[in-house]
Amino acid sequence: ALSGHASHQIGLDADVWLTPMPDRRLSREDREDMSAVMMVRPDRLDIDPKVFTPGHVLVLRDAAQEPGVQRIFVNAAIKKALCREAKGDRSWLAKIRPWWGHDYHFHIRMRCPAGATECEGQPSQSEDEGCNPSDFAFWFSDAVLHPKPPLIPPKPKPPMTLAQMPAACKAVLNAPDAKP
Ligand SMILES: [Zn+2]
Repeated sequence: ALSGHASHQIGLDADVWLTPMPDRRLSREDREDMSAVMMVRPDRLDIDPKVFTPGHVLVLRDAAQEPGVQRIFVNAAIKKALCREAKGDRSWLAKIRPWWGHDYHFHIRMRCPAGATECEGQPSQSEDEGCNPSDFAFWFSDAVLHPKPPLIPPKPKPPMTLAQMPAACKAVLNAPDAKP
């Protein structure tokens, strides 16, 4: 992702699409124009099994196990799927937190490099897996899943392309923690 995030500019945040690897090398034009793939079911309570695969679980696990990665933000439905699918060592689940949006990409927050005194990282986090029903109660509440429509309906948005930045990422950057 290209712009908009203060912490992107110092290299602490990155957005990664969950779109499957294309079967060919993409041209520059293809890359600008391709759309991200929605991973979450229309009722937003779980992933869409037609698009979210065991490969996604492994990508998120490998990213979370990187020592330099402090946190990864995903949609609550994706976190729920990871809780269900994770086998063996589950300690990496603690790094993966639900957040608004993030239903077609995940958001990586890196740790501050050692000795970077100007760098404001996030406070250390609990080691809890965050897989209890109580961890999801807020995210799957009616108010979050079905927010009241605004009085003036916004124009429908075209699908996200690489040339745009998702607004939900800005909220991640301003949040002290991903827990409500
Ligand atoms: Zn993001």
